[in-house]
Amino acid sequence: MSTNRNSTRKRSSYGNSRYGKGGRRKQPRRYAKAKSPLTRRQRVMIQRTCIAAAAVLVVVLLILAAVRMFREKPEYTKEQLASMEAFLEPDFQVDLLDINEFSRPGIASDPINGIVIHYTANPGSTAKDNRDYFNNLQTTQITKASSHFVIGLEGEVIQCVPTNEIAYASNDRNGDTVSIECCHPDETGAFTDATYESMVQTTAWLCAKFGLSADDVIRHYDVTGKDCPKYFVEHEDAWERFKADVHDKLVFAASEVTKEKVKETRGD
Ligand SMILES: [Zn+2]
Repeated sequence: MSTNRNSTRKRSSYGNSRYGKGGRRKQPRRYAKAKSPLTRRQRVMIQRTCIAAAAVLVVVLLILAAVRMFREKPEYTKEQLASMEAFLEPDFQVDLLDINEFSRPGIASDPINGIVIHYTANPGSTAKDNRDYFNNLQTTQITKASSHFVIGLEGEVIQCVPTNEIAYASNDRNGDTVSIECCHPDETGAFTDATYESMVQTTAWLCAKFGLSADDVIRHYDVTGKDCPKYFVEHEDAWERFKADVHDKLVFAASEVTKEKVKETRGD
């Protein structure tokens, strides 16, 4: 510290004697420069670091934009999806719940971003039993619960709530998802083959209907950590297989509708 002060003093006396008045005017500037907390080298370093950081930021933003574009690139055209939806539509019975505050509040959904799979946790009950249970909640008032679709032990499908209205099934995701409750014969929560087949088809159909992919299919467990659907929570491999089967179903539907389209164009 003292060495600095000495050198500054030396420089000022040198300036005075050499340049006289004019030199004195210049002195304060030189003095200020010498007192700057950063050396020229440090300032250059900081500038370079800032430029490098900005360059890195630009590169990162470009990568993010590219990833986003890639992810948002729709896999199928709207026209393809409409044909796939028609191709995949399962036989289902529409047996809507009465509008009531316990199971069908009649509130419009947000745009649909996902399909949520559930199990009834009521072994041996049928799709109709579960539909009626939901509808009777307006009387029993035990709880608030419902689902857009229920898939039964024989693979039968009942729609309880229109897909443009919310159902009380998936907690925080009630607003932007469609729910499917699935029946099961016993406590393990495993599904019958008929139920499973119907689940794959109904889920793939809803994916086509809402322009979603198998990656948008989730378990109730993924929303709240609840053990639902039990079998798919306890058997991660079975859950992955289910999603792969939904994906394959969509791919199959896409190839079938493309074949149809080619036939039409050729006039076969
Ligand atoms: Zn559930």
